[in-house]
Amino acid sequence: MDLKDIITKTISLEKYGIKNVTANYQISSKQLQKETLKRDLGKETNDGVLAINTGTFTGRSPKDRFIVKDEITKDRVWWGDINLPFDSAKFDKLYDKVTSYLSGKELFVRDAYACAHQDYKLNIRVINEYPWSNMFTYNMFLRPTEIELQNFKEDWLIVNAPGFKANPKEDGTRQENFAILNFNKKIALIGGTGYTGEIKKGIFSVLNLILPVYKNTLPMHCSANVGEDGDTAIFFGLSGTGKTTLSADPNRRLIGDDEHGWTPDNKIFNFEGGCYAKVINLSKENEPDIYNAIKPGAILENIVFKDGEVDYTDTSITQNTRVSYPLDHIQNIQKPSVAENPKNIFFLTADAFGVLPPISKLSAGQAAYHFISGYTAKVAGTEEGIKEPQPSFSACFGAPFMPLHPTVYAEMLSRKMKEANVNVWLVNTGWTGGSYGIGQRMKLKYTRAMINVALAGAFNNVEFETHEIFGLKMPKECPDVPNEILNPRNTWENKEFYDEKAEQLAYTFHANFSQFKEYASQQILMGGPVSLEYND
Ligand code: ATP
Ligand code: MN
Repeated sequence: MDLKDIITKTISLEKYGIKNVTANYQISSKQLQKETLKRDLGKETNDGVLAINTGTFTGRSPKDRFIVKDEITKDRVWWGDINLPFDSAKFDKLYDKVTSYLSGKELFVRDAYACAHQDYKLNIRVINEYPWSNMFTYNMFLRPTEIELQNFKEDWLIVNAPGFKANPKEDGTRQENFAILNFNKKIALIGGTGYTGEIKKGIFSVLNLILPVYKNTLPMHCSANVGEDGDTAIFFGLSGTGKTTLSADPNRRLIGDDEHGWTPDNKIFNFEGGCYAKVINLSKENEPDIYNAIKPGAILENIVFKDGEVDYTDTSITQNTRVSYPLDHIQNIQKPSVAENPKNIFFLTADAFGVLPPISKLSAGQAAYHFISGYTAKVAGTEEGIKEPQPSFSACFGAPFMPLHPTVYAEMLSRKMKEANVNVWLVNTGWTGGSYGIGQRMKLKYTRAMINVALAGAFNNVEFETHEIFGLKMPKECPDVPNEILNPRNTWENKEFYDEKAEQLAYTFHANFSQFKEYASQQILMGGPVSLEYND
């Protein structure tokens, strides 16, 4: 046995107001797995992988994410439905309640950091009520060296108490669960939910304010990888559009699967030290890299077992089944997770209406327009039968994590794209041949093939045609992909139905964009769907 696995250090948490605790400090992933099993808080698969249930919450709860309104945030944050204000005095009271709740318990503390670029390190101390949440932080954040630990001073503190329940009336929360960011105190306070994604996305939201404001660096909700020649590609997209899936490519070194920064000196760097992949319908054949990453050290969330074997098709707990693992569970990775300016940017969208082309090349105006729009579609739960999908717009492909006004990020991205002379592609990983219920989801192998052709620069020699309604430039040919699927209209049996659907979708784009119109240049406005007139 590795000596590291048996030595346990404990530390005092008095200075945080947490009293009479035995706080296990920096204990190994293996040991955390054992502690989880010992407390009956998880099980092991036949392969020795820890599987846990996150409890009532199997996804983030965006309506319960607050930001304390203080000197730092007051005039900077774009307050509204997404960034909900929280009173500073109420925060202090709730913090005291949470720390008294944690007092006397056996807790798990970990020092870690975010941002793989040396100049950007954000040291984080995490205090977890549960051992598996602490193991998640080991998987997802960056892991300091022994020397770094000796002089460790946290920049931010995360207090994570899934078992604590707020009293909304008294505490100023919406319901029992909450995730509150306090920029003045540099504390993320999470309670009433065991969903691990709140921990990682909490720090993401912190960086999404800090980096643009203090470091002139653009934070991005995207995955990233780099080819043999050092050519970087980044993939923006909302949940379920394929960031994690498409960035795991055995021929390209993975930088990260979800959160990156783009620096003024032309570097792309990962914020995290691990991946958090969806495992719904996961198969070794379609997604070998992710499948093989599920080995001891990984944590499966909310999956269902049959005789110790995971059934990835079982969604009885949630559709959002997940696995977290440290980056080095993936074979081909970039070390450290830093690379040069991107050559190609992909905007991923899962268009469940089957309207958008599987790949199209964007002009500068279109790129800005689609970035600000952040379109994808949500499909209805399969249990309730087939229902109409819903269009979903989330600015910058990540509005729930963006404390500043979307135009701040959009302007930065536009400038950087221009400077870097990057190619921008819109990729529809969603439906073809009809809307959800009639058509099918785009085959993963076709999406991968189209991306590879774009990365190889091979669309340069191909003829393009322009989409009549969306104005998007669609290639007419692509190796390993049937020509007829490249123009979505060709895949619909009834062309009139297609045109109607496309018009409808274009209308929702315009309706959504109206909130940003006053900020947008003529060039950006022209990047939207072309068939409908703007009526001022
Ligand atoms: P999140 O932000 O929630 O982590 P994500 O953008 O990383 O989401 P993925 O985890 O990659 O999304 O999820 C994409 C899902 O869609 C996977 O389950 C993948 O198997 C499935 N899928 C099906 N067809 C395609 C396709 N053509 N391209 C990409 N993904 C596809
Ligand atoms: Mn992902």
